[in-house]
Amino acid sequence: MQKVAFVGLGSIGRPMARRIAAAGFPLTVWNRTRERATAFAGEHKARAATTAAEAASGADVVVTCLSTSLDVSDVLDAGLLDGIGAGSILLDCTSGDPATSRQIAERLAAKQVGFVDAPVSGGVRGAEEGTLTVMCGGDAKDLDRVRPVIEAFGKKIVHCGPVGAGDAVKAMNQALLALTIWGTGEALVALAKSGVSAQVALEVINASSGRSNASMNLFPERVLTRAFPRTFRLALLDKDARIAAQIARDERVPAPLTQLAADLCTLARQELGEDADHVEAVKVIEKWAGAEIR
Ligand code: NDP
Repeated sequence: MQKVAFVGLGSIGRPMARRIAAAGFPLTVWNRTRERATAFAGEHKARAATTAAEAASGADVVVTCLSTSLDVSDVLDAGLLDGIGAGSILLDCTSGDPATSRQIAERLAAKQVGFVDAPVSGGVRGAEEGTLTVMCGGDAKDLDRVRPVIEAFGKKIVHCGPVGAGDAVKAMNQALLALTIWGTGEALVALAKSGVSAQVALEVINASSGRSNASMNLFPERVLTRAFPRTFRLALLDKDARIAAQIARDERVPAPLTQLAADLCTLARQELGEDADHVEAVKVIEKWAGAEIR
C-alpha cells in the first residue's frame, strides 16, 4: 500500500486523516500545533512526525489540508520541499487559489514531484462518513495514482481539468454557498418580521424553487436550533469567496454577485471574528434587522 503523509489536522483534516488510517494506509501525520498530531497518533494507527519534512520523507503521497494556498507554500519553504521525494505526489486538499497552486506545481515539478489540487466539499460530517465530493486539478496520470487515497474520504471524485481547476470550481461553489446562506437569511428575517415563522417558511421553500443546501440543511440544523456548531470558519468562506471574485476579475467576467458574496463575507468576518462559523453570518442580518430567525 502507498505510504501516506498527512499535513494539517484541522477541523476537516482530522476526519480525513482518520479515514486514511482506517483504510490501512501506513500514515505519518504532522501539524503545526504539535499536540494535535500527538493526540491523533495516540488515537489512531499513525505516527506523529516532528517536522513536515520528516513526515514527507519516504511517503508516496503527501496530503496537505491547510487554511490557504499561501500556508501550503510556507510549509513547503519551511522544509516540506526538502523532505518530499522524487516520484511522489503532493495531494493538496486545501481550498486553494489556482494561481498559487500553479506556482507550487511548478516548484514541485522541478523536483520530479507531481501535484494535484483536490479541495473537498461535504463538511466535517462528509469527511467522517467518507462521502466528500473531491474536485481535482492536475495530470490525469497523477490523479489515477492518488485516487486510492482520495477514495478513503471521497465519494464523488471529479477531474475538473489542469492544475488549479479544482481550486477554481471549489471557489465558485463557495461563492454560491455564501449567496444562498445570505439570501435565505434575509428572506427568513423579513418573513419573521411579517409574522411567518421560519419553520413554516422553510416547509414551503424546501418544497419550492428557492430551496438550497442552506435552506434544506444548514438553517434547520443550525439556525432554527440556535446551535451554530463551529465546523467551518467564516474566515475560510471569506477566503473562498474572495478567490472566486478574483477568478472572475482575472477572466474579465462581470460578476457583481460573486463580488458581493466576497464583500458580505469580509464584513461578517470583521463583525464576528476569526473563530465564528460560516452560518453565524446570519447573525449580522438579524442584528441589522433587529429580529431573530425562529
Ligand atoms: P482549520 O482552521 O480548522 O485548520 C487549519 C489547519 O491548517 C490546522 O491544522 C492549522 O494548524 C493548519 N495551518 C494553517 N496555517 C498554517 C501554516 N502557515 N503552517 C502550518 N500549518 C498551518 O481549517 P479546516 O480544517 O476547517 O480547513 C482546512 C481547509 O479545508 C481550508 O482550506 C478550508 O477552506 C477547507 N475546507 C474546510 C471544510 C470544513 O467543513 N471545515 C469543508 C471544506 C473545505 P494549527 O492546528 O497549528 O492551527
